[in-house]
Amino acid sequence: MEYGFCNFEKVLVARLDRGDDLLLSIQEMVKKEGISQGIILGAYGSLLESHVHMTMLTTYPSKQEFIKMEGPLEILSLQGIIAKGEVHAHMVLSNKNGTYGGHLEEGCKVCYLAELSIASIGGATLVREPHPELRSKLLKVKAPD
Ligand SMILES: [Zn+2]
Repeated sequence: MEYGFCNFEKVLVARLDRGDDLLLSIQEMVKKEGISQGIILGAYGSLLESHVHMTMLTTYPSKQEFIKMEGPLEILSLQGIIAKGEVHAHMVLSNKNGTYGGHLEEGCKVCYLAELSIASIGGATLVREPHPELRSKLLKVKAPD
């Protein structure tokens, strides 16, 4: 386990429109507004189609499966962390048959709308560093010098 404290600086609130790609829109705002580190506080709305990935093993190295679904889908929840401008977010979706979720991938197109908020944070530096066994990057919270 590793943790540290950060401070909220400001909160970006956005509405996305039909056809907007959820991840690409978040990445665009993060880049345009210079949010090097932040917390995606939440999002909700609806999707025409979705694309997530989820882990398929409990052993190392992890194995990912990518899943695409056709809408209509409701975004029930979406949270994440931005470290050095890199967005890592997971979301929960539903339709009349059930509830689904996973790691947010490019290809989630907004149906009617999506509303989201992102807090820009300071006070510590968030970075992701490679983990040799996991073949993934792990979050590190570096205290200010
Ligand atoms: Zn993930």
